[in-house]
Amino acid sequence: MPRKPNSKIGITTLEDISALILQSHDLDETLRNIVTLVAKRTHTDVCSIYLLDADNETLRLQASKGLSRKAVGKVTLRIGEGLTGMAAQKRHSIAIEEPQEHPSYRYFKETGEERFHSCLGIPLFDRSNPLGVIVLQTREPRQFSKEEISALSTIAFQITSIVVNARLLDSIHLHQEESQRVSQALAQAQQTLTDAEGSIEASQQQVLSGKVAYPGVAIGPAAILEERLGFADILHEEHVDVDAELKSLESALEKTCIQTIFLEKRVAERLSESDAAIFHTHLMILEDRSFIKKLQDEINKCHSAAYALEKTVAKYIEAFQKMDDPYLRERAADMEDIGRRILANLVGNATDQTLHLKHPSILVARQILPSDMASLDSEQILAIITEGGEKNAHAIIMAKSMGIPSIVAVRGALKHIAPEDNLIADANTGRIYINPLETIKEEYERLQVDQTRELCRLEKYRDQPATTSDGERIILRANIGLISDINVAKRFGAEGVGLYRTEFPYMARGDFPSRNDQYELYSRVVKEFDGQPVTIRTLDIGGDKGLPYFSPPKEDNPFMGWRSVRISLDNQDIFRTQIEAILMAGQHGPVKLLFPMISSMDETRACLEVVEEARKNLQKEGVGFSANVPVGVMIEVPAAVRLVSQLANEVDFFALGTNDLVQYLLAADRNNPLVSKYYDPLHPAVLQVLCEVTAVAGEMGKGVSLCGEMATDPLTFLLLIGMGLREFSMPAPFIPRIKAFLKGVSLEMANRHYVEIQKMDSSTQIRQYLGEVLAEVELGY
Ligand code: PEP
Ligand code: MG
Repeated sequence: MPRKPNSKIGITTLEDISALILQSHDLDETLRNIVTLVAKRTHTDVCSIYLLDADNETLRLQASKGLSRKAVGKVTLRIGEGLTGMAAQKRHSIAIEEPQEHPSYRYFKETGEERFHSCLGIPLFDRSNPLGVIVLQTREPRQFSKEEISALSTIAFQITSIVVNARLLDSIHLHQEESQRVSQALAQAQQTLTDAEGSIEASQQQVLSGKVAYPGVAIGPAAILEERLGFADILHEEHVDVDAELKSLESALEKTCIQTIFLEKRVAERLSESDAAIFHTHLMILEDRSFIKKLQDEINKCHSAAYALEKTVAKYIEAFQKMDDPYLRERAADMEDIGRRILANLVGNATDQTLHLKHPSILVARQILPSDMASLDSEQILAIITEGGEKNAHAIIMAKSMGIPSIVAVRGALKHIAPEDNLIADANTGRIYINPLETIKEEYERLQVDQTRELCRLEKYRDQPATTSDGERIILRANIGLISDINVAKRFGAEGVGLYRTEFPYMARGDFPSRNDQYELYSRVVKEFDGQPVTIRTLDIGGDKGLPYFSPPKEDNPFMGWRSVRISLDNQDIFRTQIEAILMAGQHGPVKLLFPMISSMDETRACLEVVEEARKNLQKEGVGFSANVPVGVMIEVPAAVRLVSQLANEVDFFALGTNDLVQYLLAADRNNPLVSKYYDPLHPAVLQVLCEVTAVAGEMGKGVSLCGEMATDPLTFLLLIGMGLREFSMPAPFIPRIKAFLKGVSLEMANRHYVEIQKMDSSTQIRQYLGEVLAEVELGY
């Protein structure tokens, strides 16, 4: 890549630094990676970071690209000494040509420093306290521009927060070790801390970690959503009346015992004594003294009876699941069953679906279902933490589209987090701090301010069209689900809606909405987008999306089962009603109708027949509708890929649903963390298929847009435009970042890299290649 003497660095460098933090294991490695990246992006010969020692007077070379490795950790200067020390002392950046001629210049032979003709030093500050200096040097004479100095100051700012956080983390670990030592000493003295639970609780500062699904930082109280046991309400623990909770537990246990005796009798009469024996086991558990004592102990710690039940039963289940004996392992299911029945007696109606958060909280759950997201007030959710689930689970997709920081695959979250615990969810690094020390909280509050500043900076992209640096126009629309997504989409500058997932509003209701209800809802969306296109997809339920009032049969393999358009075609009245509402909404703006999960021509034709019927019905009834609504299909099943040219003869456009396409092509469940390494959007087979569909659609003059999550990753995005895609739909908060990214890449570059990628046969190679591309991408503000 040719060198540009006056090259710019910018937003992707900042994002890449964030990515580097995630990849690095400790502060030294992170700083090493940063200096390499910054030197490459700025085309400077040397980039070094000096940090202030604990004495607050000595600057020590901590990482360098370009100076001798041996000098790292050894070379030191005092504040005010040399040009680097001068930048720290004067508290502002210094840009000097011919530094050796400067009176403050100092030479260190350990650095192997030769003659440099330019030097830029930018001080690092933690609030008003000096922290270090980042220094750039070049062999060629060079004048650093104002923009470059300003960009580097932002990078310096980011490095500061990395250093501060890394030091904080060290202090947390120290603190943890310390409190562990204290608890161990206590354990020895009192000989009471016999199990691991105890020692975990004795440690005051707990940090859990998981995978980042949507970045950001949130601070607030925990709200526990326990769906596995059928806990339908968020368990609030304000003002727990211990005596009252103990009484309601007693009464719930009594009722459950009576019901269990009744169940045992009934099953014995209808089936056999041996079939009924299981309820005898249940009775034994219900009357077991240590089980009851554990429940009471939890309540005595000021927890509600429902929470005590969840916590205790969860521990039993976990213990049973770990047993070697298969018979005992199966008892986990019995425990779950018992838990549900006690709960039903405890909270009255355990199937009540209303969820509400009384105040803004960080939602913690084993798994969040889309219906939970649909019924919760998104304004009250500060962040989401789940034990299971993957980044492409539908509830997480919804959270992303609303810009809610989310961390998934957090092992032990429910075990260690109690309702109303103070949490910091750092969805930049995937860390969760439980009841953090005040100092840590303060640091994060500061980071939150920075985050808001960063969002404000991206705001300027809102009204700018998305174009590559060489002027190629790219269309970025929003994926939406709930009405609350509309404002988010507008705020982030989406050019209309590329995918409206209509199942989400259905989930928040008690029954199927009428045609008029749907018409009003869709019209509202169409009107809000004021002339910009809105692609409305028909119901896509099944898989991980259920409706409270429409329970599909239990299936072993729901993602391969009765889902999506298959359910619609088997329920033609519901299907036609929805299509009629969509056609009616078409009167208010450019609406497109989209069918999900199409796998055959027969199915496509059957859908088109329903559209025809819907049109005739509306005509007959004299109801207004648009006769020109384009009809498209999602390409998300491999069979549809093979049929794309035939499909092009029947429909007007295609939407590439890569979330499903990847899972079906690679046989890797999009929600299962165990196979997440197989769920790989950069798999060459996936890229080939996307390229093929794009090419055929282009040849046949049909529009094609990609609406899967993979478009949110900038480097993947580069390949997608390289293969010819120009239209995308994504969670709106990603739109400004992609616009900013596009400013620094040309179509020529995207094409060239895509040609190179096509020669590769593994995603490992592709990722490695893209990693190298990343360091070359140049961006301006
Ligand atoms: C997809 O499968 O890529 C898609 C956009 O649809 P959903 O995520 O709703 O299944
Ligand atoms: Mg899909």
